[in-house]
Amino acid sequence: MKAMELQKMYIDGSWVEGSEGKSRPTINPANQEVLAEVTQGTLEDVKKAVAAAKRSFYVTREWRDMDSQTRGDFLLRIADEIEKEKETLARLDCMDHGKPLREAEADVDDAIHNFRYYAGLIKAPYGGAYDVNEGFGKMHSYTVHEPVGVCALITPWNYPLLMAVWKLAPSLAAGNSVILKPSSNCVLSCVKLFEIFERVGMPKGSVNLVLGPGSSIGNALAEDPDVDMVAFTGSTEVGQSIMRAAAGNVKKVGLELGGKSPNVIFADADLEGAVEWSMIGIFLNQGEVCSAGSRILVEESLKDKFVARLKERANAITIGNPMENPDMGPLVTKEHMEKVLSYIQSGIDEGATLVCGGTRYTEGECAKGYFVRPTIFTDCTDEMRIVNEEIFGPVVTVQTFKTEQEAIDMANNTEYGLAGAVFTSDGSRALRVIKEIRAGITWINCYNPTFNEAPWGGYKKSGIGRELGIHGLEEYQEIKQININLNPGIVGWYEH
Ligand code: NAD
Repeated sequence: MKAMELQKMYIDGSWVEGSEGKSRPTINPANQEVLAEVTQGTLEDVKKAVAAAKRSFYVTREWRDMDSQTRGDFLLRIADEIEKEKETLARLDCMDHGKPLREAEADVDDAIHNFRYYAGLIKAPYGGAYDVNEGFGKMHSYTVHEPVGVCALITPWNYPLLMAVWKLAPSLAAGNSVILKPSSNCVLSCVKLFEIFERVGMPKGSVNLVLGPGSSIGNALAEDPDVDMVAFTGSTEVGQSIMRAAAGNVKKVGLELGGKSPNVIFADADLEGAVEWSMIGIFLNQGEVCSAGSRILVEESLKDKFVARLKERANAITIGNPMENPDMGPLVTKEHMEKVLSYIQSGIDEGATLVCGGTRYTEGECAKGYFVRPTIFTDCTDEMRIVNEEIFGPVVTVQTFKTEQEAIDMANNTEYGLAGAVFTSDGSRALRVIKEIRAGITWINCYNPTFNEAPWGGYKKSGIGRELGIHGLEEYQEIKQININLNPGIVGWYEH
């Protein structure tokens, strides 16, 4: 493929290069081809983007003051434009990230629906109204939802377009002015999305895109006193540093962080169903999924049958150029592949049994790419790093339990709390166990389905706040109560 032209930032309604004129290549992880050069933003560029967003929110106010019907129409036009560009956007994520094309297409569909969902939600304003009597006589109280202000949106590389849209659609629906900083590893689809924003005529300064390293420009956004909110999706470690950086002006913070999610399988579960969903749980998107079911906990009596079938299915997974729609593409970068391989080595060193996979995949054209075979470990214990730490690749551990309580205890024996699943044909047990799992996103007899309507987010070190659904909109809103005295006149409070 011919390398694309320099990918620029979008600040205050213009396409600009970083102030120092530096760029870095973005690489196709399937074959190491350079896809494009990406301009590198600086602290000065962050200042410009924040100033533009601030001006747009507090001075020109075009987006903020737009009535919600018209604002919703903008979001619908964005969705329509994304739909027209579906193939291009999907191919960009496929080449830049490494996900199979059909998965990238599904991401674009989700992005379209997300914009349409929030367009609909904002067109139906809601709030509460109450008649109250609190000792001062009759009063009427009502609540209004207002935008937070300038929002910095910092996103990861695993769903380059979709993770950005999960933040852009609700924050824009709410009337905020935003600055997006996507992961340096995968920016192409986000640049394309901003071309769409420009095309539909988003007001100047309401949408800004900065590109470059998180440690400098991401951190600068989180620290900036003129940023009112930072919404972050990424690793727990960086999330912690975002929280510290945001403390200066007590910014609103939204954090969607890592996970090490349990997938609990009872002996009475439908075996084929449990195996297929467990495959989706861990091998979808090469395992680069925050909610991945990376810890399988299976009832002891089912273990041998379950592992044998899972191994058979994992070995049948096709690996290859993601544009040709294999089951799995490459991992996102060389560094990430090496990290995943080093976790696999640690599992072997710590005494787990490698059932399948465990190595890089270098057949044919894959020799130049960062492919790792689907990997299953058994004989794992809670102390092992592969059981405790988020690997973010196609690696799953299998442990066994004997009783329901043991399954619950093992499921919760993690510092994370993002997701979890239970497989059983006993409905009461399914509900009992799922209620005990300390995680924000849970499934019964399935793994990973996600809906725009349902809130998404974690317990414990997996984050703060919720995306998607009505909660996802409220994350980007302040809620104000307005109290009206229905009996103006003397109150009599100081009579005595
Ligand atoms: P990451 O934490 O390395 O980076 C995320 C973003 O933060 C990137 O844009 C990066 O440039 C930026 N960043 C890096 N250092 C920063 C700093 N000091 N200050 C501000 N910004 C900084 O994560 P990643 O490797 O891109 O993504 C993988 C992680 O994301 C995994 O842990 C995964 O579980 C998590 N994730 C969570 C969810 C969720 O919904 N909970 C969804 C997707 C991914």
